[in-house]
Amino acid sequence: MFNNTSIMYITVRISIVGIVQGVGFRPFIYNLANSLGISGTVKNSSSGVIIEATSSPDTINSFYNGIIQNPPPLSRIDSMMREEIPLINFPGFHILESEIQPGTFSLIPPDIATCPDCLRELFDPSDRRFRYPFINCTNCGPRFSIIHQMPYDRPNTSMEGFPLCMECLAEYEDPANRRFHAQPIACPNCGPVITLYQNKKIVSTHETALKNSRKIIKDGGILALKGLGGYQLVCDASNLDAVKRLRKGKLRSSKPFALMVHERKTIEKYCHMSKDDIGLLQSPQHPIVIMDSRNHILAHNAPGIETLGFMLPNTPLHYLITESAPHFPEVLVMTSGNISEEPMHIDEETAFLRLGNMADGFLAHNRPIINRVDDSVVKSGRSYFMPMRRSRGFSPDPILIQEQLPSVLASGALLKNTFTLLIKNQAFVSQFIGDLDNLETYKEYESAIERYFDLFQFIPEVIACDQHPDFLSTRYANIMADKRRLPLIEVQHHHAHLAACLGENQLPLDKEVIALCYDGTGYGTDGAIWGGEILVGNALSYQRMGHLEYMPLPGGDLSIKKPYRIAIAYLHALGLDPTSSLPPFSYCSEEEREIIKTQVESRLNTINTSSMGRLFDAVAALIGIKEEVSYEGQAAIELETIADPVENGHYNYAITNGIVSLGSIFGSIVDDLKAGQSKERISARFHNTIANLSYSAIVNIMERTGFDTVVLSGGVWQNSLLLDLTANLLEKNKINTKIHTKLPPNDGCISFGQSIIAGSITKRK
Ligand code: ZN
Ligand code: ZN
Ligand code: FE
Repeated sequence: MFNNTSIMYITVRISIVGIVQGVGFRPFIYNLANSLGISGTVKNSSSGVIIEATSSPDTINSFYNGIIQNPPPLSRIDSMMREEIPLINFPGFHILESEIQPGTFSLIPPDIATCPDCLRELFDPSDRRFRYPFINCTNCGPRFSIIHQMPYDRPNTSMEGFPLCMECLAEYEDPANRRFHAQPIACPNCGPVITLYQNKKIVSTHETALKNSRKIIKDGGILALKGLGGYQLVCDASNLDAVKRLRKGKLRSSKPFALMVHERKTIEKYCHMSKDDIGLLQSPQHPIVIMDSRNHILAHNAPGIETLGFMLPNTPLHYLITESAPHFPEVLVMTSGNISEEPMHIDEETAFLRLGNMADGFLAHNRPIINRVDDSVVKSGRSYFMPMRRSRGFSPDPILIQEQLPSVLASGALLKNTFTLLIKNQAFVSQFIGDLDNLETYKEYESAIERYFDLFQFIPEVIACDQHPDFLSTRYANIMADKRRLPLIEVQHHHAHLAACLGENQLPLDKEVIALCYDGTGYGTDGAIWGGEILVGNALSYQRMGHLEYMPLPGGDLSIKKPYRIAIAYLHALGLDPTSSLPPFSYCSEEEREIIKTQVESRLNTINTSSMGRLFDAVAALIGIKEEVSYEGQAAIELETIADPVENGHYNYAITNGIVSLGSIFGSIVDDLKAGQSKERISARFHNTIANLSYSAIVNIMERTGFDTVVLSGGVWQNSLLLDLTANLLEKNKINTKIHTKLPPNDGCISFGQSIIAGSITKRK
């Protein structure tokens, strides 16, 4: 290597931290070094990748810049350090074996959708993996869903039972090959196979299984399909009977179903797709993207709302099952394989048991799923990207924060639960777990936490949970803290929302911000249900500066499912025309109405709430668009859907000592109804009102405190109309506004918020 003695050579060590393992980083370095004639080594370390390189200073510079400018598509460089070390005479450039120190961990790569190269091979008749349902490479394929132990090497994945054939081994060992060290690689000779089960018996395998499965779908049946992170249920999205049967089987009366198409251009027929939507659909994660629908052809898949959630195939098997053919449906329902709120099933045995009554066949395979991951759901907005469910493709990628904190396990909320392991400046937010009220989901929660502890070799120093004493996540945290004799920090729900938005936007954790935390339910320090909260604070403490006026919620949970009860209770509480012929009264017997009235007057069997979610429910019922709901947020979504886009008026409101009174808003809506104003216009005025009152509350607090930054968190912000209106007002007035773009604004972000609060408090004690 030192053939040209007139040039001075140096040796440098380059340490790279980020997502640099399992993404083809070492072959990239190997090829780049060889193309520049650099000698040296590259290896994975517990924290990233370490390169030692010898060449002239100029060549080393080109090498360094080449790494920064052109890293592999799935990698992410968080930091890169370079230091000169004593000169080493390397015999060429080599990739060294991984070096894993005990007690440390490296990042676990998330699952990645089939890449364009593999897709081309999948449909290339001359390729040896032609139509092979498990084709993958260094740039794509299963990762997190098949890992049971670190380091991420084949024996630690569910590919352990599939020894590589000679051809695959040669690819695996060739640094210049796209499949170099791709742990899950396989081919028809050595890898997993698909099988179709009917009545628990194998009826066909390979191409025949695929053909028969597609016939089930084509004939209007329901197929249970073993996807990447769990079973899915599949049917023809244009077949009303099939969709109806699926709803009945899943006990899911109206919650929208996700849809899948083989090719992106098909979506154009059904939805308005923005550039951002296309970017999201084709991103390495291939999430479900919520888009505005163009027509009502597929409306039965998402009743009452004017959006549809589409995704593109994310595994080779999905490409094969959706493949276009004459008379084969071009849009498929692709929904999670479970009943109602149960976790998705991942093994054949439980899938047969629980889905047997609705599925006409089970397209299974023999690669076990280790970590259950649902499909992720995202939405693009005017100038943002918002996750609604962060799961496949994203978890367990860490969320980076501004400083190093003690290790925390945060147990999360109750609904849309996630948990978080906080390690130094990285928060590992789990995939979407679901609603812990369901016993099966709760069991999955417990075992997922155990798996994360193993994977990350995690030893918590402190446990964090919600303040709600009855949340199953809170009880879990109590047991864990007792068992391990660790301090337990109970975090107020909306404080966790504030901290989550502060943290994911990488603001300093002690920076004081103003937070609009709008959601359905959060346990308040006074025992009331909070949810329309204006807070100031940081990751250490908070103060409640304002909130919606307390209203009585009659009979708790019953009212959440029946918004007309909320509307009636609010009308009574506000002393507004309870004898009128307003819409909510038509859903209600004289008797039920009397009971609600008595409950409100005596405050018996009612609970006080400042919930913004309930206010949206009440208004939706008041104007007669939704009297009963079957999933959380349904009334609010339908209220948002009908809003007149050109109406810019708003109602008068009053804020006294931070308390937003609802009397004038409700009074104005009742007046509008009596005057025959359209629902569309009233909905728009109501949205405008909430945006305006939020803005004036913030301006008032800014004047008093001097704080300059606003964060928006809570499930209500999934309402794009409200978010756009509010963010526009704030930004137009040059107020620094932060929203969620990495985590969902709903309770999926709570565990992250809890973790950085508990970490910050513990660190500064
Ligand atoms: Zn690939
Ligand atoms: Zn093979
Ligand atoms: Fe919440």
